[in-house]
Amino acid sequence: MHPDDLLRRFRAAGALLEGHFQLTSGLHSAGYLQCALVLQDPVQAAVIGEAIAARVRALSPAVVLSPALGGVVIGHEVARALGVRAVFAERRAGRLGLRRGFALAPAERVLVVEDVVTTGGSTRETIAVAREADAEVVGAAAIIDRSASQATFDVPFQALAAVSWPTHEPAACPLCARGVPAVKPGSRPAASTG
Ligand code: ZN
Repeated sequence: MHPDDLLRRFRAAGALLEGHFQLTSGLHSAGYLQCALVLQDPVQAAVIGEAIAARVRALSPAVVLSPALGGVVIGHEVARALGVRAVFAERRAGRLGLRRGFALAPAERVLVVEDVVTTGGSTRETIAVAREADAEVVGAAAIIDRSASQATFDVPFQALAAVSWPTHEPAACPLCARGVPAVKPGSRPAASTG
């Protein structure tokens, strides 16, 4: 899948917004991604999952491992396309671990899949979960890399598209300086003229 095709699907679903946003971190950004809005359509989720699977099939993963919640839907779709099972890790008491009942076999070939890589921290943590189980992590993949290529991993990494919006402290935000109202994604603009 060409990156433009992917981003067109995101825009059509309202999952890629451009403007002036206040992120949950408090930082301001000119763009915002909400993968769940495109993945809520199972047909889109399947197409995107197949596109990732095509990129990673040569790694011969035996299982897909995703961090909950964001990675679960796309991990499931990638696993379906690869014909392997899908498991996930979840946070308990602040620590990421395999969902109770799931297991990885020693040396089992694991592909880590998430929706968006921002800093890479979540993917690295998920890789660590697999290694703690003595599984072999053969690669990592995401729908979108928004790290400006700053996220690096010690396994092969694939993303269908890369987007990059700088983030700013409000006091240093060029959009604030121009008087553009900042929007919290999911809410209506405070100064919308409608
Ligand atoms: Zn701003």
